[in-house]
Amino acid sequence: MNSINDLFQMVLTQLEGSFPKTTINAWFSDAEAVRLDGNSFVLMAANQFKKEVIESRFTTALETALTDLLGEQITLTVLDGEHMQTEPAEDIQSSTPDGEYTFQNFIVGPSNKLAHAAAMAVANNPAHDYNPLFIYGQSGLGKTHLLHAIGNVVHTSHPDYRIIYIKGEDFTNELITAIQEGQGQIHFFRNKYRQADLLLIDDIQFIAGKERTQEEFFHTFNALYEAGRQIVLTSDRPPKEMNTLEDRMKTRFEWGLLADIQPPDYETRMAIIQAKAKKLGIDIPGEVMRCIAENLQSNVRQLEGTIKKIKAINQLSGEEVTISMAHEVIEEVKSIQPGLHPTPPMILQAVSNFYSVPVEHILSDRRSKDTVQPRQMAMYLVRKLTNYSLPDTGKVFHRDHTTVMHACDKIDRERKNNAELEDIIKTLIENIQNL
Ligand code: ADP
Ligand code: MG
Repeated sequence: MNSINDLFQMVLTQLEGSFPKTTINAWFSDAEAVRLDGNSFVLMAANQFKKEVIESRFTTALETALTDLLGEQITLTVLDGEHMQTEPAEDIQSSTPDGEYTFQNFIVGPSNKLAHAAAMAVANNPAHDYNPLFIYGQSGLGKTHLLHAIGNVVHTSHPDYRIIYIKGEDFTNELITAIQEGQGQIHFFRNKYRQADLLLIDDIQFIAGKERTQEEFFHTFNALYEAGRQIVLTSDRPPKEMNTLEDRMKTRFEWGLLADIQPPDYETRMAIIQAKAKKLGIDIPGEVMRCIAENLQSNVRQLEGTIKKIKAINQLSGEEVTISMAHEVIEEVKSIQPGLHPTPPMILQAVSNFYSVPVEHILSDRRSKDTVQPRQMAMYLVRKLTNYSLPDTGKVFHRDHTTVMHACDKIDRERKNNAELEDIIKTLIENIQNL
């Protein structure tokens, strides 16, 4: 291996087994391999958005490829190149998700008390009281945080445990790839998951509606459960609201404990703001904190984003932290909330991920059933989620506006009587918002 860059190129080549080349180019052409430090590989993304997408969609694949190539367990850290100068060194350190997502850093209030207590119980005594633990709630309320916190505690108390953390969507994609590659790979896939002592699956809602994935997961679930291994799942909704989840799966998920997380109340929001400000080392006047707590009510991720932004402005321009400055930042954070302004590329990406069909197939002339439905869905979502006109939408897909109209009418009609389709649309919109 000549250099860190050669290594990175090899990793990207390996990724081509699981992702279309266009997808890899889209996310990695302007990323830079920074260093390999012990078992930690540091990658710099061009900006915050790309950093987040790389972290959420590619961590597992990158870590697997690195681990394969180097023959040792490697963990990935992704930096945000755009904000490098403004972030102090300790911030960059803590951008490794695992380290940051601990119970110590988690503020407990009435809205998340049950989920927190259950997560603690599971972390301290895996596979004892609550198996599986199923945590559900809207986006940005701390589900992933709790999941990692469990993983961190168990990793410390049981260093020998095999802990697997995976996103529902990656689980699905991995399985699909394994299926395409044949029996040997499916075997490998099964073995990998069935050896887990602690299986953490984030956003399990992604497996709903996908028969083969559900089937495979059902067997994995049973095998682990019977062997006395702990399973923790998170989802954006409770099992009974996952329309296309098979009944036997719903029953399994409800065997243990269902714990919901609600948006935090005012006092908890204040406590979170104080904790985040302290951690970032910025003084925010009480009245400004109250203003933030009053204006951002439903999402902890946004609270965090606001404090970070205030800190950056304060540091860069020396502007005083006032209520009016906070208002501006709050408006901006609300408006840049991913998903509020989805673009056609984001929609195409989400549809492509969901159906495991490359974007270029969606945009091509192919007429096979497995591309027609994703294409019509993508057209429908572009019309629904952006302000693109029919002709503009047609241009995106290299098609006539009547084709778009036909697709939209069809899906509008079908979703009324088709719970599965309704569920898929709901999931896709969530995915786009979380991209
Ligand atoms: P979800 O998985 O539910 O979408 P995350 O776990 O990703 O949400 O949380 C979003 C962000 O908010 C994370 O940075 C997380 O650390 C932070 N966060 C959420 N809830 C809390 C909490 N109760 N205390 C401290 N930080 C929190
Ligand atoms: Mg999450």
